[in-house]
Amino acid sequence: MNKKVPRIFKAIYDYKGDGYSDLSFNEGDILTQISHENDFWFFGSLNEKVGLVPFELVVELKPDLMITKYQKQIKEIKAQLNTMTDLIQECNKSITVITKEMNSTQIEIHNLQNENKKLKETDSLQLKKKLNSCCVICLENTRSQVIVPCGHSCLCEECAKYFKRKRVCPICRKKITKILTINPYYYKDFFNRIKN
Ligand SMILES: [Zn+2]
Ligand SMILES: [Zn+2]
Repeated sequence: MNKKVPRIFKAIYDYKGDGYSDLSFNEGDILTQISHENDFWFFGSLNEKVGLVPFELVVELKPDLMITKYQKQIKEIKAQLNTMTDLIQECNKSITVITKEMNSTQIEIHNLQNENKKLKETDSLQLKKKLNSCCVICLENTRSQVIVPCGHSCLCEECAKYFKRKRVCPICRKKITKILTINPYYYKDFFNRIKN
């Protein structure tokens, strides 16, 4: 054995020495051999204390074995790192895909909002048109009557019956002398002529 390299031992049990010549130690302590006494004991040191240590309570840590062990551990850690790097790359890919999907979804939402806006505008335009051409009383039927002499064209045939009896225009409150029925097809043209 090469005497220049001290042998290192690891305690596998607790040991309480006699306090005079034995060294006390706990399981897991690392002991350094100073000299070989006999087949059962060696003289060793632990934390600047020295004393006799029984061989049967320790195991020798051989540097070569330890290096092999650490190399194996390093290899395992490297493999784990590679796995983690792969995982991170996978995650990054997923993030890219999800981000793309989110962007296209946002574009879709934007388009839908625009369409909705247009539809609302069309709706309100149609409502306006309808209000312009429907009876001001029932808001349901098409205007088809012209009140004489004020010329207001605001009633449908049904509602006109009521105002015929009342004899007062619902718009200007002027007295009604006559109510004329006009063909809805000519209504617009007729109304324009009356206006002009
Ligand atoms: Zn009406
Ligand atoms: Zn009137």
